[in-house]
Amino acid sequence: MSRQESTAVSPPHVLIFPVPLQGHVNSMLNLAELLCLSGLHVTILLSDYTHNRLLRHASLQSRFSRHSGFRVVTISDGLPADHPRVGERIVDIVLSLKEVGGQQFRHLMESTDGLSDGGARRRVSCLIVDGVFRFAIPVVEEMGIPYIYFRTISACSFWPYFCLQEIIDAGEVPLKGKNEDKLTYWKKKEMDLMVTSVPGMERVLRRRDIPRFCQVEDINHPGLQTMKTETRRTIDASGLILNTFEDLEGPILDEIRKHIPNLYSIGPLHALLKAGLESEGMESSRNRSSSFWEEDQNCIAWLDSQPASSVIYVSFGSVTILTRDELLEFWYGLVNSGHRFLWVIRPDSIIGNDNGNGNEIPVELEEGTKSRGYMVGWVPQQQVLAHPAIGAFFTHSGWNSTLESITLGLPMLCWAYFADQITNSRFVSEVWKVGLDMKDTCDRIIVEKMVKEVMEVRREEFLERADSMATLARKAISEGGSSYLNLNGLIEFLKSTVS
Ligand code: UDP
Repeated sequence: MSRQESTAVSPPHVLIFPVPLQGHVNSMLNLAELLCLSGLHVTILLSDYTHNRLLRHASLQSRFSRHSGFRVVTISDGLPADHPRVGERIVDIVLSLKEVGGQQFRHLMESTDGLSDGGARRRVSCLIVDGVFRFAIPVVEEMGIPYIYFRTISACSFWPYFCLQEIIDAGEVPLKGKNEDKLTYWKKKEMDLMVTSVPGMERVLRRRDIPRFCQVEDINHPGLQTMKTETRRTIDASGLILNTFEDLEGPILDEIRKHIPNLYSIGPLHALLKAGLESEGMESSRNRSSSFWEEDQNCIAWLDSQPASSVIYVSFGSVTILTRDELLEFWYGLVNSGHRFLWVIRPDSIIGNDNGNGNEIPVELEEGTKSRGYMVGWVPQQQVLAHPAIGAFFTHSGWNSTLESITLGLPMLCWAYFADQITNSRFVSEVWKVGLDMKDTCDRIIVEKMVKEVMEVRREEFLERADSMATLARKAISEGGSSYLNLNGLIEFLKSTVS
């Protein structure tokens, strides 16, 4: 992974096209920077909306200023600026881009100055695209440009998506009751039946653990059909990139490889990048934010004043939304646990339903928070997780958050909100055994009990497992490790596209 000297022949030019959401953008920017470190030219394609957010809150320019081969181009996502891009509404971004993105993408690819930079860089030699953006494929196919899919989810959630036809054939989806209210649905006994149609997951996956986008009542549900078809089409690409590592998800990766032999498992990407930057003598921690929100730095000072391993960090990521009732259940559970907590509550993450009790904060919560808690809109998460005061991570099981936690050897308490998180949280508790899965419940008594289990009762057991997973993650990214080698394999492939 050493930096290439520039040669007379310009290097391969990779176009990276993520779904313009925080988690996807974070992993794709990490890959972009790794490719820049190897001397490749990289253009990242973002929506105007996302680009503006990055310009406002992130240090994207300072992060990439040292990589002359890096560039950003943008298209419109077709949604008004005030469209809610959270919760289930994030699907609108993908659907809208499907409508309006194809033409813009074609225009970008066909205009001579669109991506070639007046001779300073060659035309795009390979496209790395999020797996749900098939609309971009006909354009590159017509131009004879190879493409690779990058799914920013875990292998354990990609694989059920890939096997959706088998799941449907086995009658394990659709699921009755999805259209009822959440609590009634969660309690259904049928949800505990095992899913037997996903090879390698027969002993782990219950119906309630299938990615939530697949948990539908209607077999013709457009989301289900899209996921089924698009994921299966992964086999048409020149390869598949997953942000995971062999020692974490080896058996599932082996299953996927039977269908997609060119599978590059190159995670945890944030750690691989950190190692890459350090080996080049570059600062890997400061000014590296790719946050869509302003990061609160004061929480670090608050953490500095807390005892070692005493704080549970709570964050449900960039798209989760909570009802006010759910917020209160978590809040009571945290306060009643007696543990210190640092809780990220995004400004756009709480919705209505106050059951007529008004929006006042109960005094016991205010006091419990004043003495032991810190609430904040957005934090530099990797810095927070690495802080010695943090003892565990109460997470929504987004894949980046899960990997960031695994890399640091932190026990997890999981409350998955939707999508792939539902499967990740199952693997955290049942396969990797580094924490607990609080799936399909939102109750203050359970929150309190589970926080105590992760922070006290079963702490040693989880720590021991988490520590060995962190060791395996470090091994994967170090020289000669599986992710290190797979990244080199990917770079070799990208170079071969111009020879
Ligand atoms: N994150 C952050 N600050 C926060 C909360 C989250 O920087 O206050 C980052 C986190 O480190 C992770 C990303 O946002 O890289 C969230 O991605 P993830 O896949 O975990 O969940 P998503 O937001 O996509 O549901």
